[in-house]
Formats: sequence, structure tokens, C-alpha cells
Amino acid sequence: MLDISWIRAHAREVQRTAEVKGISLPVGELLETDEARRLLLQQVEELRRQRNIASEAIAGRLRGGRPGEAEELKQAVRVLNAQLAELESRLGEKERRVRELMLLVPNPVSPETPIGQSDADNQELRRVGEPACVDFALRDHVALGSLHQILDIPRGVKVAGSRHYYLQGAGALLHRAVQQLALDLLIARGYTPLEVPLMVRTESFVDTGYFPAGRDQAFRIDEEEQWLAGTSEVPLVAYYSGDIVDVSEPVRLAAASTCFRSEVGSAGKDVHGLYRVHQFAKVEQVILCEADPGLSERMLQEITRNAEDLLQLLELPYRVMAVCSGDMSARTHKQYDIETWMPSRQAYGETHSASALLDFQARRAQIRYRDGDGRLRYCYTLNNTAVATPRILIPLLENHQQADGSIRIPEALRPYMGGKELLTAPS
Ligand code: AMP
Repeated sequence: MLDISWIRAHAREVQRTAEVKGISLPVGELLETDEARRLLLQQVEELRRQRNIASEAIAGRLRGGRPGEAEELKQAVRVLNAQLAELESRLGEKERRVRELMLLVPNPVSPETPIGQSDADNQELRRVGEPACVDFALRDHVALGSLHQILDIPRGVKVAGSRHYYLQGAGALLHRAVQQLALDLLIARGYTPLEVPLMVRTESFVDTGYFPAGRDQAFRIDEEEQWLAGTSEVPLVAYYSGDIVDVSEPVRLAAASTCFRSEVGSAGKDVHGLYRVHQFAKVEQVILCEADPGLSERMLQEITRNAEDLLQLLELPYRVMAVCSGDMSARTHKQYDIETWMPSRQAYGETHSASALLDFQARRAQIRYRDGDGRLRYCYTLNNTAVATPRILIPLLENHQQADGSIRIPEALRPYMGGKELLTAPS
């Protein structure tokens, strides 16, 4: 959420941001409704002032033993009350509409953000590692999963419906191993691990900028104003809603959680294998810091570095992309995606997404800090994936497969896999 006085002064910029992000936003209606709201507020305050004067006068007349005059004033107060009730109700409507529209106003994009419409317009910043050249026919992760009996999609679908799966044996262990490796890396770098609630109130989704726009992406818990979190970023940031936080040092948080996504709008897309599923696990990094653009940039580099280091530990080739305006969400100011090489796609596939949001979330969630002069200011927030699994198992299994179908376990994962160096298919 942005500041309304800033929006008033920068209406053209707001309109342009909406356009480059492909968001429809009635900026004119917002400004007109806000103008009407401010006018009504003045009228309401004036009537309240008149009513207070009249009420004091009534008390004075009663004390002075002039009840007849008091009666006349009481009649005037009744008229004022009726007018006030009418104006207050109109004011309430305008306030509701302004809030509704304010929640749709997108965060401006950073000057470095490429302007474009879709992921095809994202810009590659760097490539790290080379996809291996092999002289045998590569199996995809589904074939490897069934060869090793570590992945069972048909049973996932039988039990839970489409886009569900079972991981078994070494598959389940790998799923846990990558999360623990990511958590250990973040903890060693000063991140505080949290175990978070996953059934989260509507308000927390609104506070973090996921609602109203992304409401259809979340699963609602029947009859409740609670939803299953699609990312632990929601409970991690909302933890601080309404707080004044000490960010003299950036607050660095990490959580491993199950994530639930409806994937509405993805019908027929990525239906094969583990790429796009309804339930997955993610280790997330979240940062709260002072409202300093230079610091935010350094934090964005830090959380991107963490993800890159993890991919290097997993010995996977990847590239870092500057995400364009049309491929980022309304709440994002600047975004890098990391895409990891997936042999079965003969392409890089998105595995990480790092975002800087400036004070967009903090304004909605009222998360503030005191600056050096004792002034209350809104924090800046950032987030990035550390690892998301089972999607990461796609490049992990496919890039590390050997000619005989066995799968090499990268050194960094071995301590989490009972020291195993190689997964060999059961005979
Ligand atoms: P996001 O929170 O949308 O930025 O996604 C972060 C990461 O989570 C992505 O880069 C993927 O690795 C993973 N992810 C997101 N959605 C899904 C999904 N439906 N199925 C599997 N992995 C997902």
C-alpha cells in the first residue's frame, strides 16, 4: 500500500506503474473518491464541533435553571445528530471504497527493472555452471523417480487428485535433506528459524499484499476467515503486524513450511511431473530493515547470494534473471528469479524468486521502527526462496543421473542422506 498523499502527487506515475505491470486500476476514481471522502470528513468534523458546543450550552442552561431554553437546544442537537448520521454513513462508504482501491495500487518498479509484458521479456544477468554433456539417453525425473521407487504420482492423484504425489524412501529423504541444508546455511548466516502457522487469517494475506489480487490462488478453510498459506512469507511478515520493530540490524528470518497453492489459471500447464503441484515445501528467507534503498539493494543481493550458494552446493547449473515489470506482482518493486537447468525441459526452469518490496507490505501491516531522530517510519521488507521442493528435485535428479540410471548425491547433501554418495536403483 502506498501513501494516499503520495498517490495524489504522483497520479501519472501510479497509472504508468499499473500499465507496465498489466494491472487495471481506476486511478481517477480513487482520487475522486478520496476527494469526496476528505470533503465529507470536514463536514462531519464541523457538525461534531457544533454538536459539542450545543451539548455544553444545554448543560449550562440546565445548571442555570432555564430548562425551556435547554429544550430548544436539545431539538437542535437532534437535528444535528440526524444530519451527522447521514454524513457518517456516506463517509463510511467512501472510506471503504478508498481502502478497496488503495489495496489495488501497485508498488512502483525500480529503475533497473526491465519493462516488459511476460517472462519472455526478463533479462538474463548471469549464468553459473554448465549443463553436462552426456553420451547416454537422459531420463526425466518421473522416469528416474519410478526407476528408483522414490516418486509415485499415480497414487498421489488417486488419493488427493491432480497435481499431487508421494515421495518415498530416498525421495522423501532428499526432500527433507535439501530443506535442512538450506536451513543450516541460513542459520549459519545469522537467520533466525521459525516454525510458523499455516492456517492464516485473511487480514494477514491482505497485510502482506497477497490479497485481494491473489485470493484465487489460495485454498480457503471452509466456513472460516482462514486460508492455507501459499508461502511462509505471509506468517513471517505478519508476525510483526502493528509492531514497532528494532531494525537497527536487519531482521533476518527463515522458515521451512508446507505451501499450498490452488494454481488457478494453470490448467493444462506443467502437468507432467513435479514442476507445478498443489502442495510443496519451501524454505523461505524474509528480511525487515530500515527504509533505506541502498540497504534494501544490499539485502536483495544477500538473499540472492544465499540461494545461489545453495545451488552451488547442490552442484546445479543456473542463471539469474532480472524480472520484467509485466511478470512481477503488484507488490514487488524489484525482482530476481533464479532458474535452474532442467535437462528434461532442455531449458532453465524457475526455482527461486527474490523480491524487494520497499515499505509496501509494512504500510499495509503497520510495521514500523524508530529512526535515529526518534521518528516512526515504515520498515522495508524483502524475501526469497532458499529452496523449494519437490521442484528442486527435478534438476537434482536429472542433472546428477549417471548412464546406468544411478544418481550421484552432491557432497553437501551426503551428511543428510546417511553418508550415501550414490542412489542406485533397486534390482
Ligand atoms: P513464489 O513464492 O511464487 O515466488 O515461488 C517460489 C518458488 O516456489 C518457485 O520458484 C518454485 O520453486 C516454487 N513453487 C512455486 N509454486 C509452485 C508449485 N505450484 N509447485 C511447485 N513448486 C512451486
